[in-house]
Amino acid sequence: MGKKKERPKPILEQEYCKGCGRCVLACPKDALHISSDINPISGIFPVELDYEVCNGCGLCIAACPEPYGLRAGQLEGEFQLEDPEKLFGEKPTTAPKPVNIPDEFLDLPVAEPFVIKGTYAGAIGALLAGCRHFFGYPITPSTEGTELMAKVLPKLDGAFIQAVSEVAAVNMMYGCGGAGLPCMTFTSSPGFSLMLEGVSYMISAQVPGVFINIMRGGPGLGNIGPSQSDLKLVCRGLGHGNTHAIALAPSTPQEMLDLSMQAFQLSFKYRNPVVILGDGYLGQMTGPVKLPEKMIKPGLPEWAVYGDEQHRKNLIASIKLSEPDLEQHNVMLNEKYATIGKNEQRSASFQCDDADVLIVACNTPAQMAKGAVQGLRSRGIKAGLFRPITVWPFPIDALKSLVTKAKKIVVVEASNGQLEDEMRLALSHAGIEKLPIIESIRHFGGVLPQMNEIIEKVSAAEEVLS
Ligand code: SF4
Ligand code: SF4
Repeated sequence: MGKKKERPKPILEQEYCKGCGRCVLACPKDALHISSDINPISGIFPVELDYEVCNGCGLCIAACPEPYGLRAGQLEGEFQLEDPEKLFGEKPTTAPKPVNIPDEFLDLPVAEPFVIKGTYAGAIGALLAGCRHFFGYPITPSTEGTELMAKVLPKLDGAFIQAVSEVAAVNMMYGCGGAGLPCMTFTSSPGFSLMLEGVSYMISAQVPGVFINIMRGGPGLGNIGPSQSDLKLVCRGLGHGNTHAIALAPSTPQEMLDLSMQAFQLSFKYRNPVVILGDGYLGQMTGPVKLPEKMIKPGLPEWAVYGDEQHRKNLIASIKLSEPDLEQHNVMLNEKYATIGKNEQRSASFQCDDADVLIVACNTPAQMAKGAVQGLRSRGIKAGLFRPITVWPFPIDALKSLVTKAKKIVVVEASNGQLEDEMRLALSHAGIEKLPIIESIRHFGGVLPQMNEIIEKVSAAEEVLS
C-alpha cells in the first residue's frame, strides 16, 4: 500500500468571506461556524474554521461561491500539484473487489403496434433500456420527450430533474453516469451547444450518457423548424479536445425507439456518451411503433463510483495534469474511437444494388428520398437510397462498394452540406479517389427537401445516365 498523504486543509480568507453560510452547511465535520465578530475589512460576519476538527475533505471549497473565501491549501514540504488519483493516496477498504453485474433482458408482453411521435418513441426506448434518470432543460422541438419523462419517471421510482440550465443538466449526467447508472437528456440545437463542455468532460472521464438532440434551424436561436444543422457539431466538434461519440440518425419513430434503446447499450459498452440526432420533423412526426420483445434491467459496471464500500476505490476524473499521462490517455481514447469506427458502422440501403443514381440521405430527408427513389424507378431511372444510420462513424464500408458502381451521387440534406462533408471525408480516408459526379439538394433554415424536388433534379439529368 502506498504512503498515505495528509490532505491539504482549506485556506480561509475572512476578508473575502460574504458570510453566506454555504460552507457551514456543506461541512460534514462541523468545523465551520459563523463568527460572532464582524470583520473590520469586509464589515461582514465571516466564518471561522476549526483546523483541529477539519479533515481536509474540501467540500466547503466546492460550496463556497467566492473565489478567495475558501481555497485549497497546500501540504507543507514536498507537496506538488497532482491528479486526484495520486493526491489522496490509496483508499483502503476491506470490501470485496467490485465485479461487473451484467444487464438482464426481461420479456415484454406482446402488444399491438401503436402510433406515437418521434420524441415519445425516443423516451420509451430509453425507459425500455432501463434509464430511470433524466436531467434536462426543455427546449422546442424536443420538449415533449422531456415532458413524458417528467410524467413517467416518478412513477417508476426514477429521478427527473429539470436543471437550471443545460450546463447544469450535463454535469448532473456526468455524476449519474459516473455512478454507473443509465441517464439521458432531450435537447435541441442551441441547448446542445451549451452542453458541449460537459460532453467533453464525460468523454475524457469515460462516462456513459445518452443525448437526444432534436435539431432545429440555426445558427443562433434560429427557429423551431426541422434541420440537420448539428451534424458537423456532433461529428467534428463535440466539445474541446479530440472528442468523438457515436452519432445515430433515426428516420422514423420506430427507429427513434430502437436506436434510443441501443444507444444506452453502446454508451456503456464503450464508456462514452452517445448522441441521437433527430430533426424537428421526426420529433413531432407520428408513426407506427412496435415494442421490442425484451426490455433491459441494467446491471452495474465494476468501474462505477456507486457510493458504497465495494466501489470505494473507484474514481472518475477527466483531469490529467502530467503531459505524458494525458498523451497516453488520449492514445487510449483514440484507440477506442478506432474500434468504434470499425465495429459500429450502421446503414440501410433501398434498391441500391443496380443503382445508377445513389441518393444519400438520413433522418426525415431519407423518407423523402425513399419516395423519390420509387418515383424515379417508375420513370425507368435506376435510383437507390443509401441511408447512414450512424453519421459518426460514417458507414463507409457499406458505401464504398456502391460508389464504384454508381454514375452519380445526390446528397439530400437539411443543412449546408454537412452530411456531404462527412461522406467525402470518409471516402477520402478510405482511399477512394475515383468518384462519380456528386450533386446536392440542400435546404437550411427549418425547411426540408421535398420528394418532388429530388425527382425533378435527378430526372433533369437523365441524359447523363443513359
Ligand atoms: S475541508 Fe471538509 S472538514 Fe474541513 S472545513 Fe471544509 S468541509 Fe469541513
Ligand atoms: S461559503 Fe465562502 S463566502 Fe460563504 S460563508 Fe463560507 S467562506 Fe464565507
